[in-house]
Amino acid sequence: MKGKRPKLIWPTALALTLGLSSPVFADPQSRPNGPYVEDSQNISLSSFMSNEELAATLQKLEAASQGKMKVEIAGYSNWAPDGYKTAEDKGYPLYLVKFGDADPNKKRIFITAQIHGNEQIGAEAAIDIMRKLSSNDQEVQNILKKVSIWIMPRINPEGADNTYEGKWYPTRYTHQTWEPEKLGLSEDTAAPWYYRADGSERAQNNDGRVYYGIPGYDQNRDYNPNLNFRIEDYHPSDVAAFLNNKETNNSLYGGFYVTAEARTVTSVFQQFKPDVYIDLHHRGFNTVSDDDNRSVPVQLAAVVADPYTDPFTGKHYEVDEDVLTLSKQVNALAAQSLQRGQSHFGAVQKYPDVNLPGTALGAFALNDTAIMLIEIKGQSQTLGQKQSGMLRQTVTTPLYEVFKAMADGSIHDIDPALYDAIPEADNRISDPTTRDDQHF
Ligand SMILES: [Zn+2]
Repeated sequence: MKGKRPKLIWPTALALTLGLSSPVFADPQSRPNGPYVEDSQNISLSSFMSNEELAATLQKLEAASQGKMKVEIAGYSNWAPDGYKTAEDKGYPLYLVKFGDADPNKKRIFITAQIHGNEQIGAEAAIDIMRKLSSNDQEVQNILKKVSIWIMPRINPEGADNTYEGKWYPTRYTHQTWEPEKLGLSEDTAAPWYYRADGSERAQNNDGRVYYGIPGYDQNRDYNPNLNFRIEDYHPSDVAAFLNNKETNNSLYGGFYVTAEARTVTSVFQQFKPDVYIDLHHRGFNTVSDDDNRSVPVQLAAVVADPYTDPFTGKHYEVDEDVLTLSKQVNALAAQSLQRGQSHFGAVQKYPDVNLPGTALGAFALNDTAIMLIEIKGQSQTLGQKQSGMLRQTVTTPLYEVFKAMADGSIHDIDPALYDAIPEADNRISDPTTRDDQHF
């Protein structure tokens, strides 16, 4: 079912328009009734990067960086570095881009993107950041003397390159079948709740559900505050009892690390021990308020999980006070960096309150790392490349300010109350593509 999507060429005039940022603001996208594209025929996805194009881009950037940027393969979509395999074939590489080492004497920032395969702009923004960090700019050099930055630009390459009816159809989910016997469990053991056996998602144009037919997981529920949780380390009957009970097999508990992707990303996290972890996502559409109809470009969050007790080990996890403060400072600086008068950039909101210990952000925050969730508006299939330049900047601008402030220590001067003052998520636009049943 994996195939290469056809290569389409942008008409020149359109390509030129997308290269400029000003028409983006002239676009009447903030009208409450029309910020999304209803007719999927009008959306061109062809300028998003395929997995092959991503690999080629990374190689090119590395070669041009004169040693500043190193590209490694941290694992594969089917093979994790701990030896865990979910298929015979190793699958797609999970690229890890390093600016600096895991040096305990430096500040360390870890960024991941596209954990949901249909959330493309994050990966594109990550490439923009790499380009900036591999330049000879003096300010960048000064940042990298103090801060190491590791980036995984696409941690769900299977969803990113999914096809449906012969066309590229990126999906939220990974490609993987629940095979309990391979984990030492009896074959009738219930799958983790975040598994979709039928390979279906709500259609992006709200035309029912799309059955693309490849089973898989929401990777962003497969993490666990117990970063070393491995099904195979526990007694099969204990794990099966947990999975077979709806009271415990749900979003209030950590995931099961059944995907090689989540295991790979976690192993990078454990090796790097970042001070700050940033995950890039996409969401639906909001306006700021009834009085302010600016379309919200990004929502941010510094907290996504409550204190947690691992039901298997009894170990308790909570976000330390100083970690929470740094999280708020990072998010506050990000919001501040986008304020430009009444422009759309500044129309930032907080992401709704959630308790999701099975997300990468939730699990890592409960392991002594400050976090920032950046939620870019729209999905690949709703906006396509519309507003892409502007949306990428709403990611790269805050990230770069965070790099600078971590390097010179000024991050600690920011009042964490500025985070609390960011407007709450509100005024969700009734958008046929919005999935109320799903969070980041
Ligand atoms: Zn997402």
